[in-house]
Amino acid sequence: MHKSLYTCPMDPEIISKRSSKCPKCGMDLVPIERGREDINHKDMEKSFKKRFFLSLPLTLFVLILSEKIQEWLRFSLSVPYQEIVIFVLSSVIVFWGGLPLFQMGLSEIRAKKYGMMTLVSLALLSGYLFSVAATFLFPGESLYWEISTLALAFLFGHWIEMRAVRGATGALKELTRLIPPQAHLIDGESLRDIQTDELKKGDLILIRPGEKIPIDGEVIEGVSAVNESMITGESVPVNKSEASSVIGGTINSDGTLTIKVTKTGDETAISQMMELIRQAQDSKPEVQKIADKAAGFLTFAALSVGISTFLFWSLATSQGLIFAGTLAISVIVIACPHALGLAIPTVTTITTALAAKHGILIKDMKALEISRKLNYIVLDKTGTLTEGKFGITDIIPFAKVSKEEILKLAASVERFSQHPIALGIIDYAKHKKIKLEAVKEFRSIPGKGALAKFSGKEILIGNQILIDEYKIGNKKIIFKKTEGSTYIFVAIDKKLIGAIGLADIIRPESAEAIESFKKMGIKTAMLTGDHEDVAKLVAKKLGIDIYFADVLPKDKVNKIKQLQKKGNIVAMVGDGVNDAASLTQAHIGLAIGAGTGVAIESAEIILMRNDPRDVVKAIRLSQKTNSKMVQNLFWAAGYNIITIPAAAGAFYKLGILLRPEWAALLMTASSLIVVANALLLKREKL
Ligand code: ADP
Ligand code: MG
Repeated sequence: MHKSLYTCPMDPEIISKRSSKCPKCGMDLVPIERGREDINHKDMEKSFKKRFFLSLPLTLFVLILSEKIQEWLRFSLSVPYQEIVIFVLSSVIVFWGGLPLFQMGLSEIRAKKYGMMTLVSLALLSGYLFSVAATFLFPGESLYWEISTLALAFLFGHWIEMRAVRGATGALKELTRLIPPQAHLIDGESLRDIQTDELKKGDLILIRPGEKIPIDGEVIEGVSAVNESMITGESVPVNKSEASSVIGGTINSDGTLTIKVTKTGDETAISQMMELIRQAQDSKPEVQKIADKAAGFLTFAALSVGISTFLFWSLATSQGLIFAGTLAISVIVIACPHALGLAIPTVTTITTALAAKHGILIKDMKALEISRKLNYIVLDKTGTLTEGKFGITDIIPFAKVSKEEILKLAASVERFSQHPIALGIIDYAKHKKIKLEAVKEFRSIPGKGALAKFSGKEILIGNQILIDEYKIGNKKIIFKKTEGSTYIFVAIDKKLIGAIGLADIIRPESAEAIESFKKMGIKTAMLTGDHEDVAKLVAKKLGIDIYFADVLPKDKVNKIKQLQKKGNIVAMVGDGVNDAASLTQAHIGLAIGAGTGVAIESAEIILMRNDPRDVVKAIRLSQKTNSKMVQNLFWAAGYNIITIPAAAGAFYKLGILLRPEWAALLMTASSLIVVANALLLKREKL
């Protein structure tokens, strides 16, 4: 259905669409089958769980047999070859139980990206070798029970953490689940179930009441309401009848529909959404760099402080090698920058999923980081603040022609245009049952109007700018206008024959959105190619700070630049092809109403619904995401900084000492706090 994905053989959390190296450990990524993301992950989680539960009784044995523990708990128990039994049990726990830990450590070392697992392996291995030497080479106490419990604590930590992180990754999985695996293909007179993947364009399929629609298509027969909330975020079911288009992954309500498949594979809405989410999850926020730097620093600190701790306690005090070794291991364990590695990615995954649930697709995480600092929002008028559905308010003949004649000519030309004004005129002509003429040589003039030839005569339709440009009439035409209407003129062979007044409806949600921006301290601007009169009225009605009217598409981008030059951080919200350049120019571009393809390409954030209030939601989400990231960095790094001295034995005089296994549990706790803190985002209302 779509291109294959890649994952890290060591860490299934990593999902990438390129066959690059793992960003965490540097190993080469391997392809995964579609839908196997979670299976793979569950395998890892299961492996940790199994190793934990099998190592648990072995560790208990080691503990019971250890002299130190017996001394503490005041009991004595001895078996023949006690030391050897402990050695064997510990070896199993460390090497079989800890195998995945060593594997991950090894891949880090191979990739020369020393991190958390290098440290874990180092701690386990040094403790183990030290003990083996104490058993066989020189007389001394061993660290068997310490390293066994340490390995156990790591296994436990990883198992629990994977479970927690599993709750955090999900946006993609949830989307794959929306597509039913099979579809009912209409094959002549009969009905046959086939795999959704095998559907071809033009195939007819049947959708029964309550079923999920498997693919994008067009309704051929039947009426029903369809719940499209999973794709558009719109909770009210949408009525479908002949010629309506339907989206794969949405749910049919009570009617039966026959649809013709119009899009397959990568073209379907859901595939494109998945692609965008994947892009977002691949994109790294700027704070990630800080986290990576801190992690590198901690790894370095862990090793140097660990070695210094060992040297200090073994050489400068009379505590002995065991004590020094234990402390050094604690330091290395506690300094593991694990939580730091989770701090940012957990937040970004949840954010993208949460956003998608609200019909907001974030293509680039960096956009969310900037959104928080916004102080200017520029909104396109037609289609963004207004519905972009024009109704005709009046038709004014200037010459001896009928209104029908004007409408007929206008509609015949506009038939070839995609502009909302054109659609309004065509609809009205259809409603009036006017028969359209065949015109030739149609040409659209962006931001101005359109031209075409009809039986040898040149027909021109457009605004004042176009009329002036073609020098039609030498003075401004004065006529009675309806307030709020925008007028376009119709001319034949440079002779003005009439004007058509059209009015658009301001979206009821727009005022609320503008109000919210104001409360957030963000200034608003409206950008439109429409006439000054209309722009002024809309701006006034909505309480917009400034407006730019009569702006040609190519000048829209300059207006954004102007605002940026004054030091503003500017977001642009638009839907059309003529907004693409300004969407790119703005610090953040938001394409609204799932816009046009070009707008989507140029924007960083895509709003599936036609609701300006979703811009407010996106900004709120960005604020929440940012504070979560900062909190997580604090929890992840702050804890290391506080606990490293304790682990190094700085507070030994006060009776505070951190044993390696406690260090391992603390480390796990910090990772869990980070994951849990990120998960809290899921509950946020926007
Ligand atoms: P907006 O910025 O409001 O989306 P555009 O830049 O697309 O508007 O268009 C600006 C103006 O150009 C419109 O208000 C209209 O007067 C005129 N115009 C553009 N295209 C057409 C068309 N196909 N037919 C008539 N007028 C048009
Ligand atoms: Mg527009």
